[in-house]
Amino acid sequence: MNEYLLLTPGPLTTSDTVKQAMLKDWCTWDDDYNLGVVQAIRSKLVTLATKSNDYTCTLMQGSGTASVESALGSLVAKEHKLLIINNGAYGKRMAEIAQYLGIDHCVLNYTETQLPSCDDIEKTLLSDENISHVAMVHCETTTGMLNPAKQVGELLSRHNKVYILDAMSSFGGVPFDLADWHIDVMISSSNKCIQGVPGFGFVICKRDLIEESQGVARSLSLDLHAQWQCMENNQGKWRFTSPTHVVRAFHQALIELEQEGGVAARHKRYKDNQQLLVTAMRELGFQTLLDESLHSPIITSFYSPTANGYDFKEFYLLLKNQGFVIYPGKVSDADCFRIGNIGHVFENDITRLIEAISNSRYWL
Ligand SMILES: *Cc1c(COP(=O)(O)O)cnc(C)c1O
Repeated sequence: MNEYLLLTPGPLTTSDTVKQAMLKDWCTWDDDYNLGVVQAIRSKLVTLATKSNDYTCTLMQGSGTASVESALGSLVAKEHKLLIINNGAYGKRMAEIAQYLGIDHCVLNYTETQLPSCDDIEKTLLSDENISHVAMVHCETTTGMLNPAKQVGELLSRHNKVYILDAMSSFGGVPFDLADWHIDVMISSSNKCIQGVPGFGFVICKRDLIEESQGVARSLSLDLHAQWQCMENNQGKWRFTSPTHVVRAFHQALIELEQEGGVAARHKRYKDNQQLLVTAMRELGFQTLLDESLHSPIITSFYSPTANGYDFKEFYLLLKNQGFVIYPGKVSDADCFRIGNIGHVFENDITRLIEAISNSRYWL
């Protein structure tokens, strides 16, 4: 059915059955949709995220950024102060959101290849007692780096701060439990490791935090509390038109995640794909941007070749013609391209990709 595989970290390659789930029209106020699909998704997501009963899930229309904006704008009140840890494009985007919304905030900046350190974060917390909330990205999709989300959670729990994690590109593909890691608010979206199609995001957070957030939102359509209350009181109803086909596809994707063996099995497939890719690319002479120890199984940045008049666009089209779409680099101070490992992609696809790359002249 597909002309090419998307080796991009969202939108990504979905299964045929996920795509087929969209071939039916759904009514937004009928029980088949609200009870059968939306409520089922909300409770399945909480179960995937944690063993604890203290969390609740709210779905929000838009791309993943809309859900980040909704969470920051609806949960960080006027009297709060937000610290943002930034080591890539998505950390920077959270700082931009805070700026746009007029949220009192400060930013702890790193370069894109630096791992955030708990010592630095602790120093920042001690230097400004007004900081009440801290936001960080889990997998920085800019580089593929996996930030120390667990260690940061332990630190923030000791300091009694609200912890907001953008786990957009890791949730469903990297195992963790929100309660175990002291994460109060977690944000992800339909088109990443759950392997659905783009159109909405979701915020899983402590129930008491959302309960006490009425009136905080800085936007009407992104008011997280109002959306949550509508879903709670009306058995899954969204406030405004919901992306019904996308939601139906996501429900199917969640069933397929269970059939695959859950997050642990999916993590293993992604990790195996990534290791196969990196090993074979190194044999061809490519180098990764990050050290092995910093890598997520989600996406890998490779330095662009310097020989043979390499041109990304040409390389991209050459691979696309053979059935693979890769991603341009996003790192500001290094010339890279990226290959995503997530989606309905298997060992045999990676092997075919390597063949296509080795047939190109760029590795010479
Ligand atoms: C994909 C992604 C987002 C959201 O991006 P959208 O383009 O708005 O869907 C946010 N944070 C991270 C870490 C991501 O990978």
